[in-house]
Amino acid sequence: MPELPEVETIRTALQDGERGGLSVLERTIKGSRLLWERTLAAPSRRVFQRRIRGQLIRDIRRRGKYLLFQLSADTLVVHLRMSGDLRTESEGAPLPAHCRLVLQLDGGLRLCFTDARKFGRIWLTAEPTEIVGGLGLEPLEPGFTARLLQRLLENQRRRIKPLLLDQAFIAGLGNIYTDEALNLARVHPLRSANTLSPAETASLCRSIRHVLRKGIRYGGTSFDWAYRGGDYQRYLRVYHRASLPCRRCRAPIERTVVAQRGTYFCPVCQGAPHDGR
Ligand SMILES: [Zn+2]
Repeated sequence: MPELPEVETIRTALQDGERGGLSVLERTIKGSRLLWERTLAAPSRRVFQRRIRGQLIRDIRRRGKYLLFQLSADTLVVHLRMSGDLRTESEGAPLPAHCRLVLQLDGGLRLCFTDARKFGRIWLTAEPTEIVGGLGLEPLEPGFTARLLQRLLENQRRRIKPLLLDQAFIAGLGNIYTDEALNLARVHPLRSANTLSPAETASLCRSIRHVLRKGIRYGGTSFDWAYRGGDYQRYLRVYHRASLPCRRCRAPIERTVVAQRGTYFCPVCQGAPHDGR
């Protein structure tokens, strides 16, 4: 499932034309083909097809796990969810498997949204804040500081892992990078958020930024068929490493379930769940 580093990798590829593709910036959308009705969250197919035609792609931004294409009049908002992906292709190529939406661009190019599991959603809107306005802190922005995190955690009795997964608290973290950041910060995933010491909070803040930046540097994590190209899985500390030795202390990594998600941690480095140090 794409998290912040995977979404950022796709954003960069579309913007800069990496992986042999061409940039979609400054291209006009000539038309669209919707191949799976529910991919389009809003507006209706008819309104979407009429409104998007003729708009220019001016910019691509990311907010949490969402991509926002700034068009001449509207914003195209894309959430990849479980298996969504976006890639550019030349007009004449056969459509890729699981293609749900095609945008025909000028210059013989098209932008394809593929999504094997069909959970991805796309909106065309003049008011993107209606979709992304409820998202929490952006962890790679300068405003995400240890001091701010400390103040927010003090008021939170929730356990730290479900809190970090809550997109209204921090935007962009999913199961992989949350487990990695908690391990790097030596914090047990079941600790109550308000029991973290200032030193632990500062370490967690640094660790979140570190694992996300490193994830981006390696083009994201390729764990399953859903994502392509990334290399960060080679550097994972705990995720999918149950019973393998901890990279710091050599104790076997354990797997448990937290908030219905498989959760990996080192029982030695990350202490006990109620260890209020
Ligand atoms: Zn360890």
